[in-house]
Amino acid sequence: MSVVVVGAGMAGVACAAELASAGLPVRVVERAADVGGRMGGTVVGGRAVDLGAAYFTVRDPGFAAVVERWRAAGLARPWTSELAVLGDGSRGRAPGPQRWAAPAGLGGLVAELAGGVAVETGREVRRVGPGPTVDGEQVDAVVLAMPDPQALSLLDPAHPAAARLAGREWRPAIAVAAEWPVREWEELPAAFVNDHPVLTLVADDGARRGDGAPVLVAHTTADVARAHAGDPDGAVEPVLAAIRDLLGVSTEPRWTLAHHWPHASPAEGREEPFHLGVDGVALAGDGWGSPRVETAWRSGHLLGQALATRLPV
Ligand SMILES: Cc1cc2nc3c(=O)[nH]c(=O)nc-3n(C[C@H](O)[C@H](O)[C@H](O)COP(=O)(O)OP(=O)(O)OC[C@H]3O[C@@H](n4cnc5c(N)ncnc54)[C@H](O)[C@@H]3O)c2cc1C
Repeated sequence: MSVVVVGAGMAGVACAAELASAGLPVRVVERAADVGGRMGGTVVGGRAVDLGAAYFTVRDPGFAAVVERWRAAGLARPWTSELAVLGDGSRGRAPGPQRWAAPAGLGGLVAELAGGVAVETGREVRRVGPGPTVDGEQVDAVVLAMPDPQALSLLDPAHPAAARLAGREWRPAIAVAAEWPVREWEELPAAFVNDHPVLTLVADDGARRGDGAPVLVAHTTADVARAHAGDPDGAVEPVLAAIRDLLGVSTEPRWTLAHHWPHASPAEGREEPFHLGVDGVALAGDGWGSPRVETAWRSGHLLGQALATRLPV
């Protein structure tokens, strides 16, 4: 019995954790150096900066139990239930669900969930074929836990799973992080930016992390990300100009960095939480529902349960 999960983002790790807890032997293969996927970030001057998801929300009782474990361990903290709304020179407030943040970075939550699961990082899977096979190795089941275009690139176009993935638009984004000498902006803690040519969201990274560092992380529109796909640093100046304009910041940042997410989110959601083919090829991720962290967890978790029911222990 051998199950391989390709992708160590929230969906893949949630799936593997569920399979492992059911007693099934499972391995996760991840091409990046670390787990986390789009919950990833970087470390600048010893301080974590989130460059993917800005925060996460909690509705599902099963996910709430996991989040409570993270909260008790000091890995996650309730952040805010009200975001600012910027645009057209106005500033409003948008009450909403409780948003959660991670003092040491969201990627650490995926790492915690992966504890006890075998994860091989730094290995890119190139082909998933009939059998199923993973780069020629016969397995009992394989889970592709990643954005649709990444999963499609591993499958033969005639494969039944490929038909579930084709034809859906995924939008890119660039995250620009910067630190200023002092905090010059009014308390945010994060802001949706409506109908803006450059920005969709600005988050106060010091507020969400709880250390008060004067660091902002801004997410660009898909158009800006497409224009600077080959050179994400080219998005820094337009983003800084927009921040000056929207938040009245007048000083220059100490440092900036830009990260391009080619498949940040699908243009449209789906109803089903995952795909599980009779041939043992399965699909999960935030493309299976509305694109958020909780959807990715739920997709992987439910697929893990379905696979554990189907496969003999
Ligand atoms: C800029 C941005 C802002 C966001 N903001 C929010 C937010 O505020 N709130 C929220 O809830 N969600 C937000 N999201 C969405 C959230 O990050 C995702 O829903 C979630 O992280 C998706 O997890 P996943 O496991 O489905 O996919 P991913 O995290 O993309 O994981 C897929 C993994 O598969 C790996 N992989 C791909 N191909 C291969 C291969 N061939 N071989 C090996 N490994 C492979 C990748 O390296 C990656 O680690 C945001 C995303 C972005 C990019």
